[in-house]
Amino acid sequence: MLVRFWGVRGSTPTPQAENLRYGGNTSCVEVRIGGQIYVFDCGTGFRNLGKQLIQESNGAPISAHIFLSHFHWDHIQGIPFFTPLYSGKDSSFIFHSSNRTRGPQRAIEEQMSDPYFPVDMNEMAAQRKFYDINEGRVEFDQCTVTSMWLNHPQGCLGFRLETKDKVFVYATDNEPGHPQFDKNVRKLAEGADVLIYDAQYLPEEYEADRRGWGHSHWREAVNVVMESGAKELILFHHDPDHTDECIDSVVAKAREHYQRVRAASEGMEILL
Ligand SMILES: [Zn+2]
Ligand SMILES: [Zn+2]
Repeated sequence: MLVRFWGVRGSTPTPQAENLRYGGNTSCVEVRIGGQIYVFDCGTGFRNLGKQLIQESNGAPISAHIFLSHFHWDHIQGIPFFTPLYSGKDSSFIFHSSNRTRGPQRAIEEQMSDPYFPVDMNEMAAQRKFYDINEGRVEFDQCTVTSMWLNHPQGCLGFRLETKDKVFVYATDNEPGHPQFDKNVRKLAEGADVLIYDAQYLPEEYEADRRGWGHSHWREAVNVVMESGAKELILFHHDPDHTDECIDSVVAKAREHYQRVRAASEGMEILL
């Protein structure tokens, strides 16, 4: 299993010099298992993944399973700019997500409707399917993906991808402090080889004025990794105002409590 980070920033892209070592594109993580591609979220990093896939495929059809945690801009904004969706009728993209008000298909398509974008999603050549997965389990040939709700305004799904010997967990946009969701995230993360977790705020920022905004901090991330028995923690969804230096200091502090911690950076790869 190969994990690649295409976008690691939360909320909004940050193309600023002081942020570029970790990266300014919003959430997008790719997982490859054999030849199969699984994508977790389609923030602006999704655009660069698209370019890579076009280059790699050399004209052959491309297919991927795409899991969307939720529909806030920083998790969908790359979709209109993902060129494989326009590339040919033999390519296919299967979206797995859940939306309580509109359903996942409408929620995805409406971001490209008039007057928000000049090209309608129906004009995309590639085949598209949309599944409303809610909480549950999706089975593929080489893996299964389990989804559970997290604590975030308008809802957010966390995902656990399991092969026969490895476990990858993607749990972002989650605020601590709600008994059921605190339990959900620990259950998702149980014994995982790698846990990607929301560490948007500093604990002191959270305490000061960011309760109820739907995000976590590095101290809670350390709690989750230790209490769930996950092996490695990847801090993710960095705050737009956190510079590279700030993130370095967060990693150093987190390592005083748990050794295997890194902060996600654009282009980082993990081979499991
Ligand atoms: Zn987000
Ligand atoms: Zn969100």
